[in-house]
Amino acid sequence: MKPTCEPAAKKRQCYCDSLSAEWKAQQGYAEGFCGVCERCGKPGHTQHFPGPVPYTGAWCDRCVTIVAYTWFLRNPVILLFIAIVAGVLAFQWWI
Ligand SMILES: [Zn+2]
Ligand SMILES: [Zn+2]
Repeated sequence: MKPTCEPAAKKRQCYCDSLSAEWKAQQGYAEGFCGVCERCGKPGHTQHFPGPVPYTGAWCDRCVTIVAYTWFLRNPVILLFIAIVAGVLAFQWWI
């Protein structure tokens, strides 16, 4: 029997082990992967969001790192906070 995923999947905690090979093939996932990357469309792994957000999605190994470092830039509350801080700093500099 062929292994469905590399040992790295254990660390990744993706769905490779919990999804059957037939189901993954039905979804059009490449062999050894359990999802399609949401950012670039390459074969990836369905896993929990790499940030403090209760969300599960699919990303490739490269994009999951990018998402882990940039998730806050997509959060409107945090963006607003950064805008306010930047605005206050610019205002102080102006005076
Ligand atoms: Zn996987
Ligand atoms: Zn990707």
